[in-house]
Amino acid sequence: MKVGILGGGQLGRMLLQAAANYPIETFVLENDAECPAAHLCHQFIKGDIKDFDAVYQFGKELDALTIEIENVNVEALEKLEKEGVKIFPKPSVLRTIKNKIFQKQYYQTHQIPTAEFIITNNKEELEQNIDFLPAVQKLAEGGYDGRGVQILKNKADISTAFFSPSILEKFIPIEKEIAQIVAINENGEIALYPPVVMHFDQHLNLLDYQICPSNLQKQTLYKIEAIALAVARNFKSPGIFAVEMFVDRNENVFVNETAPRVHNSGHHTIEAHYCSQFDMLLRIILNYPLGNTNFIMPSIMVNIIGAEGHQGAVHYEGLNDVLKIPNCFVHLYGKKQTKPGRKMGHVTILNIDKQDLLYNGNKIKRTLIAKTLPNTN
Ligand code: ADP
Repeated sequence: MKVGILGGGQLGRMLLQAAANYPIETFVLENDAECPAAHLCHQFIKGDIKDFDAVYQFGKELDALTIEIENVNVEALEKLEKEGVKIFPKPSVLRTIKNKIFQKQYYQTHQIPTAEFIITNNKEELEQNIDFLPAVQKLAEGGYDGRGVQILKNKADISTAFFSPSILEKFIPIEKEIAQIVAINENGEIALYPPVVMHFDQHLNLLDYQICPSNLQKQTLYKIEAIALAVARNFKSPGIFAVEMFVDRNENVFVNETAPRVHNSGHHTIEAHYCSQFDMLLRIILNYPLGNTNFIMPSIMVNIIGAEGHQGAVHYEGLNDVLKIPNCFVHLYGKKQTKPGRKMGHVTILNIDKQDLLYNGNKIKRTLIAKTLPNTN
C-alpha cells in the first residue's frame, strides 16, 4: 500500500517511525527538503501542500493520503477522493476545520458546547460589538499555535485587532485545558485515549508539558468523553481527532477546537500507552483492528522549545544529564536550525509516582536546552 503524508514536520516524522513496522511504502510532500520527515520516508517530493497541482500530482499514484497540518489544498483532496484515493480524514472534515468560522458553526449545529461567539469581517463590525468584550478574537484562516489569536479586553484594544474574517469568542475563565484523542476506523469503531490536562507556556502560547492520567473528577471525565465523542462522530469520517476543551471553575466544558490528525497532546502515547496515536492512525489507514489506548504507566511529556535569544544551528545542552533519568525517552525532531519558540523536540518520562513525574519534568525543562553555540548565535 502506498501512503502519502502532506507536510513533513515532526508529526510526519513520528508517523513514519511507526509506519516502518507495517507493509507500506511512504511518501511525503513538503516544500523544505531538510524537513524532519524528509529522510524517513521511501520517497520525498518537494512541493507546496497548499498548491492544487502539487497535491493532486502527489496523490494520484497513492492508495491513501493523510495530513499532519490542516492548511493543505482541500480541492485537490476532493478530486483525489472522487478518483478513489482514501483520505484520512475526509476532505469534508478539513473544509470544516480549516476555517474557524465553519468549525464553530459545526459545534453549534451539533449542539456541542463551545464558547458563545459572533463573526466579524472588519473594523466597523468590531466597533458595533463593543458590548461583546472581553472576548478572544481568532482569525478564520491561517492561525496556529496562538498566532492569529488575541484577547480584546475593551474598546481601546480594537485598534490592534484583526480586520479580516474572524470569530469573536466570549472570554472563558479557564481552569484547565484538556485534550482528548478519539480514533475512528472505517467501520465506525471507536477508541478513546484518556484525556490529558495541557499546561501552556503563557508567553509563547505553546503546549509546555502535560501529565497523563489527568486528575479530573469522574463527572467531568464523563462529560469530556461524551463531548469529544460527539465532536468526532459527527464528522462521519475515519481518522484521529484531538479535541481540545476548556474546563471552567464550575466544571463546565467547552470545546475550543479540534485537530483531525495526530497531535502534540498525544506524543506521550508513543511510550506510555500500548498503542500510540501514530500506530493507531496507521491501523486506521490500513483498516487493521484498532489498538489498545490504555496507558502502561503514568507519564509526563515536556516539549523542548527553542530558547529565547538563540537563533541558528542548534546545539542541545544537557542531553547527557537528561538521558540519565530513569524511563526517559528523548525525541529530537532533526531540525537543523533553532529559533525562540520553535518546537525542537519532546521528552516523555514514565513513572508510577506523580510527584516524581513533576520533579523530573521540571528538571528536563531546566536541563535540556535547544540553543546555539556561543560563536554561532
Ligand atoms: P491556536 O489554534 O492558535 O492554538 P486557540 O484557539 O487554541 O489557538 O487559542 C490559543 C489559546 O488562547 C488557548 O489555548 C487558550 O489558552 C486561549 N483561549 C482561546 N479561546 C479562549 C476563550 N474563549 N477564552 C479564554 N481563553 C481562550
